[in-house]
Amino acid sequence: MARRLKPLPSRRVSRRPTSPAFRSIINPIHGVSAAPDLTTAPTPAQVAIKGLCPRCGAKTLFAGLAAFAPNCPNCGLDFDSFNVGDGPAAFLTLILGAIVVAMAITTELTLHPPLWLHMLIWIPVTAAGVVGSLRAVKGVLIALEYRNAAREGRIKGEDA
Ligand SMILES: [Zn+2]
Repeated sequence: MARRLKPLPSRRVSRRPTSPAFRSIINPIHGVSAAPDLTTAPTPAQVAIKGLCPRCGAKTLFAGLAAFAPNCPNCGLDFDSFNVGDGPAAFLTLILGAIVVAMAITTELTLHPPLWLHMLIWIPVTAAGVVGSLRAVKGVLIALEYRNAAREGRIKGEDA
């Protein structure tokens, strides 16, 4: 009588869990989910141009002219936990300053406008340029930080 072999238990293939229940594990840094969901997230260009939340795409990123809201009222993403820092402002001061000065010198040498006209043109141009480009650059940076899950440096093993 042949001994019947017991069938081996089917091996469980461990798949990367993608269920909403798994995703909603609380991440102390960014609020809810640890891994950014790139299927629904807007692109950095969309975030920058329209001021969208980098996670859900709602128009909630900016609370002021170029200031981030503390968090997204739509999906709860904590904008405060991202550190965009002073990098954009320093860059823009140098780049925009050079562009505006070059335009002002060119205008002076070609059209010789009076000084008050220079002020009337270049002060609003500079102000609008700073606010506009600061929003754009901060939007791109926060979108990239979200998409790449960039965090402040931590010691390995230290939670939070
Ligand atoms: Zn959101």
